[in-house]
Amino acid sequence: MAKISEYSSVVGSSTIEELQLLAGKLQEKIVQNINSTAMGGGVAELLSRIVPLLQELGVNTRWDVIKGGESFFNVTKKFHNALHGRPEEISPQMFEAFMETSQQNIEELKAYGDIMIIHDPQPIALIKKKLSMPGSKWAWRCHIDISSPDTHVWNFLKPFIHQYDSAIFSSPNFSPALPIRQFLILPSIDPLSDKNKDLPQETIDTVLEKYQIKKDKPIITQISRFDYLKDPIGVIEAYRLVKKRIDCQLILAGGTATDDPESSKVFADTKEIAGNDADIHILPVPSGSDIEINALQRASTVIIQKSLREGFGLTVTEALWKAKPVVASSTGGIPLQIRHKYNGLLCHSIFGAALSIKQLLHNPEYAKRLGENGHEHVKQNFILTRHLKDCLLLFLCMYHSDDIIHL
Ligand code: UDP
Repeated sequence: MAKISEYSSVVGSSTIEELQLLAGKLQEKIVQNINSTAMGGGVAELLSRIVPLLQELGVNTRWDVIKGGESFFNVTKKFHNALHGRPEEISPQMFEAFMETSQQNIEELKAYGDIMIIHDPQPIALIKKKLSMPGSKWAWRCHIDISSPDTHVWNFLKPFIHQYDSAIFSSPNFSPALPIRQFLILPSIDPLSDKNKDLPQETIDTVLEKYQIKKDKPIITQISRFDYLKDPIGVIEAYRLVKKRIDCQLILAGGTATDDPESSKVFADTKEIAGNDADIHILPVPSGSDIEINALQRASTVIIQKSLREGFGLTVTEALWKAKPVVASSTGGIPLQIRHKYNGLLCHSIFGAALSIKQLLHNPEYAKRLGENGHEHVKQNFILTRHLKDCLLLFLCMYHSDDIIHL
């Protein structure tokens, strides 16, 4: 992983000095992050970049993962979908299974942070440990779009949330009425990581050869876990509408996450819908294949993210950073990243997505301009150092009730 000083090549040295100044105020504190998976999905991606850099800045930052079996993750996946507004049947037994595993984690997981950052609903019940940790500060960081949650699940989670000192959301639109302090922290990408760094053309070509993807026709790509909310089948339908007019290929690449039991079914359904079209490449990319994901994004003519619901959508940030023209659903955090017709195209339907893709394929100059603006927009707003600063300010704020940090 790159050293903090190396980021000055992207954001300038004064930004790094500012981080060092803020981190200096937190030398005594232990910050413990807890989530439900070490690999797969945006939260693990964020933590894998943020934690080592906070450590290097001198803030004693740790990352622990809760344990859970199939029935627990089945329920938490349903919570995830329901909070995103998708109808889910959740029986009383399922809530009980959630509480049973939560109780085991409460008993077995060591909580030792002065500042506890609990990510998403899976570990939410750990707040019960707060009572036995006097002086500790607890924040629930929600990465999900909870602007229109299923009330059954939301009402179940609320009593836990109310016990936290603060809640953190990724978009002002997600902020619900809560009796605790709320903070807005937008996610970020690491421009120096294997996922996002520049790649030599030979590396990109090697990955294309590995997956038998030709370079003789445009490539449309969606990188995402196989999840219904990412709408892989909608992507195939949009591709088919485009294909009627323009010969092109589609890549749907994605792995699974250990806390997502639905992905193999979604993968199988997607394969079935794709049928035997040799221009559709459905690639089960194992977790940690960052160079491959990077290469597939860079090899693409257009990146699509046709999510039905989205927390923030790091795949969009990654594509914009690579100066790719992006067509993405206007949902969740995506409109925070894409200003329509300035640095990408927002869509609201399969038909709309297909129309936008065709427009970009027909007009490479326009596509290039959108991509360049996208790169600049990410550079100004969604680089890791901005995120680190927000985290450090949050930690300091947790010790100040008036929201003003005196340095
Ligand atoms: N990702 C990956 N491999 C895959 C699919 C996704 O490394 O097969 C990464 C992707 O590049 C991004 C993150 O996982 O960094 C997904 O984050 P996003 O916010 O887009 O969606 P989430 O999975 O959290 O819903």
